[in-house]
Amino acid sequence: MLDNDRLAAWDRESFFHPSTHLAAHARGDTPGRIMTGGKGVFVEDRDGTRLLDGFAGLYCVNVGYGRPEIAEAIAGQARELAYYHAYVGHGTEASIRLAHMVTERAPANMSKVYFGLGGSDANETNVKLVWYYNNVLGRPQKKKIISRWRGYHGSGLMTGSLTGLELFHKAFDLPMPGILHTEAPYYFRRANPAQSEAEFTAACVAALEEMIAREGADTIAAFIGEPVLGTGGLVPPPAGYWEAIGAVLERHDILLIADEVVTGFGRVGSMFGSDHYGMRPDIITIAKGLTSAYAPLSGSIVSERMWKVLEQGTDAMGPIGHGWTYSAHPIGAAAGVANLELIDRLGLVENARDTGAYLRAAMTDALGAHPNLGDIRGEGMLCALEFVADRDTRRFLDPALKTGPAVAAALLRHGVIGRAMPQGDILGFAPPLCLSREEADTIVAATHAAVTEVF
Ligand code: PLP
Repeated sequence: MLDNDRLAAWDRESFFHPSTHLAAHARGDTPGRIMTGGKGVFVEDRDGTRLLDGFAGLYCVNVGYGRPEIAEAIAGQARELAYYHAYVGHGTEASIRLAHMVTERAPANMSKVYFGLGGSDANETNVKLVWYYNNVLGRPQKKKIISRWRGYHGSGLMTGSLTGLELFHKAFDLPMPGILHTEAPYYFRRANPAQSEAEFTAACVAALEEMIAREGADTIAAFIGEPVLGTGGLVPPPAGYWEAIGAVLERHDILLIADEVVTGFGRVGSMFGSDHYGMRPDIITIAKGLTSAYAPLSGSIVSERMWKVLEQGTDAMGPIGHGWTYSAHPIGAAAGVANLELIDRLGLVENARDTGAYLRAAMTDALGAHPNLGDIRGEGMLCALEFVADRDTRRFLDPALKTGPAVAAALLRHGVIGRAMPQGDILGFAPPLCLSREEADTIVAATHAAVTEVF
């Protein structure tokens, strides 16, 4: 085994880390650590420090670490057949079984699943499918995509454009043309003080209607949104939001893409966020929870209505010109099958609902009255704490103080990983769905200690 100093030197010499302050990392000034093992909700680093992972990696290790059932499924598949492609109708038993399991669990109108590798490429696929759909239907001008400020949909050229966070646009010349951003459904920050949730929902809907009128419905192909804003701050929608948005989209014949990369497979206490919030999507993006990140795999689940048009397109134009070498990779598929079986067997969707509610209630008991805590929110196994300078006015803390990262750093010293969300002083928790009440208590006690230390 390499010694720590050698490994750190090689890391600085050779490794270009994603989403990292590169200069700070070169100076040894990032929280980066080298992880070696994991079991349940805990991870361990090379120095033997054991941490409760309150963010399940990047809200993806939903069944928890160290599951032998998934490891064995991966090893078995690698031994038998590590790879064969899925072009021109090929498949493996694992990829076909997983497609069947996904569509069995998806909302009733969903029909087929296209497998990719990660959430970003799945959303790239979705934009292409939506464009193809409108070309087949003979309306080539209907191509713009509406996303929301604070949405996160990946960091490719198209998906980075769909993402509505400044960090992902700045200095990359994004967003690209044809991508529009509408109001974030972020009641705590965006509603005016006199507005009820229902009134704020009406304002979001009015802003969308206005955008559609301005641009012309005949130029807009689709609307993309996460059921619960994730990277943008773990924000559940205001009351009635998705029903009202859905009605507008249907009226203007605009497709709905539900980006369920985070919410799919139990995170919000239902199998899919679409079911939970009454969304009627034409495409659902899945990734993270599909394999609990034991292997990279994503998917685009398309509705029956959309599928019919895609089929019609290939009759007219030949095979669909869209595929990745690793689409439906057998190892990812084998991991997915074992993972979905485990979610059912362990009742993790129900546990996300119940233990998630317990976590938020315990957090509220411990910190709800703190003068710098503006909001505690979440759904299922998601919990966010938003810090403010003043509770009554919701005034922002001075960004130069970097309070969110400071609380996350203090939390780490108390043995728990939380995530300082990229925009605003928001501490996020999205633990593995197998979290127990006792482990939830550990998160709350560490958070209380960290907050008390920082303020
Ligand atoms: N969509 C959502 C809602 C996400 O949260 C993410 C990643 O966090 C993505 C898409 C992009 O997924 P990936 O990082 O696998 O490309």
